[in-house]
Amino acid sequence: MVRVNDNYLKLPGSYLFSTIGKKVREYKAQHPEADIISLGIGDVTQPIAPAVISALHTAVDEMARAESFRGYAPDLGYDFLREAIAENDYRARGCEISADEIFVSDGAKCDCGNIQEIFSADCRIAVCDPVYPVYVDSNVMAGRTGDYDAAAGRFRYVIYLPCTAENGFSPDLPSEVPDLIYLCFPNNPTGAVISKARLQEWVDYAKRNGAVILYDAAYEAYISEPDIPHSIYECDGARDCAIEFRSFSKTAGFTGLRLGFTVIPKDLEADGVSLWSLWARRHGTKYNGAPYIIQRAGEAVYSDAGRQQIRSQIAYYMDNAHYIYNGLKEAGYEVSGGINAPYIWLRTPDGLTSWEFFDRLLTRANVVGTPGSGFGPGGEHYFRLSAFGSHENTAEAVKRIKKM
Ligand SMILES: *Cc1c(COP(=O)(O)O)cnc(C)c1O
Repeated sequence: MVRVNDNYLKLPGSYLFSTIGKKVREYKAQHPEADIISLGIGDVTQPIAPAVISALHTAVDEMARAESFRGYAPDLGYDFLREAIAENDYRARGCEISADEIFVSDGAKCDCGNIQEIFSADCRIAVCDPVYPVYVDSNVMAGRTGDYDAAAGRFRYVIYLPCTAENGFSPDLPSEVPDLIYLCFPNNPTGAVISKARLQEWVDYAKRNGAVILYDAAYEAYISEPDIPHSIYECDGARDCAIEFRSFSKTAGFTGLRLGFTVIPKDLEADGVSLWSLWARRHGTKYNGAPYIIQRAGEAVYSDAGRQQIRSQIAYYMDNAHYIYNGLKEAGYEVSGGINAPYIWLRTPDGLTSWEFFDRLLTRANVVGTPGSGFGPGGEHYFRLSAFGSHENTAEAVKRIKKM
């Protein structure tokens, strides 16, 4: 008889955003007149930039003619996009990454979730706490963790790296040595960044211990301070121990179009095996590449017009971030993030739990945010507000929170 993968049963029932949705629906049912503003969901709201739209139209028209029609895309992505990425995201920053080390995909979520497949089932993982839940959940599904300890809010056998106000939300090196280390900077949900010196310590630590760092740089484009690394390959020796994920989702509004990529240096090995060749083998079989049309759209992000338009979208969101940050600070909240990331991280007042503060914000201000505890036990007593709304909604939400 068929049996299910019972690792899935270890995942606690309700997912963060479905619980939020349910609470908001219930509140609306009781208060149909309430004008609810969401500063909660991690999705962009600005439309796709004109330069990208124009590239999409051109690519669609190419598909209509036999001479320019394209079928299956190459497994690892089209050269025109891989070249544009290598040049603009890496060589322009002094990182020696070549086009053939870039694997184009339909988004960073897939890549972050799937990368664990090329590693042994008994590898021990370490994750920032709090962090984007995909890293832990995908390893739970693969059987790489123990059971969920509800009281602790943790999975057994996972090394949690506390990111706290004390360490500036950038993790200290652990005493127990992991095999796979997931780092995410700028961080979702805390909005924190890691300094180059500190990231270099992680690279040195990974090399010393034969570990691999899986570096999620989905929010790299939001970095505004000059000395913060945009890529882990800005650190010496990272080519020997690090894989990097990037996405066009938060950078260029591609959450609905779907485009991202993974970088695996050619010389990166584990167990004497090339990780590049394993991931290429996986792409060849379980293809999660992006269509030609979308890859052309991605190429347009690097054009002069595209770059300028995307910079102004990011500036728009970051105006919101600064507005929220300053407004909450004036209202007496303990806030961080919001400088190099579109997320503001605040400590809940009056010792409230994350969910208690969620309820207070919903009922007293009709504002929806994201409870920090949904990102790991270290997020308890914290709360995330995101800057992806309109200026008008953001200003109104901050006004209401200040009055609360
Ligand atoms: C949004 C996000 C992603 C990206 O996802 P896509 O699948 O490319 O849309 C990856 N990592 C983090 C931390 C994110 O917040």
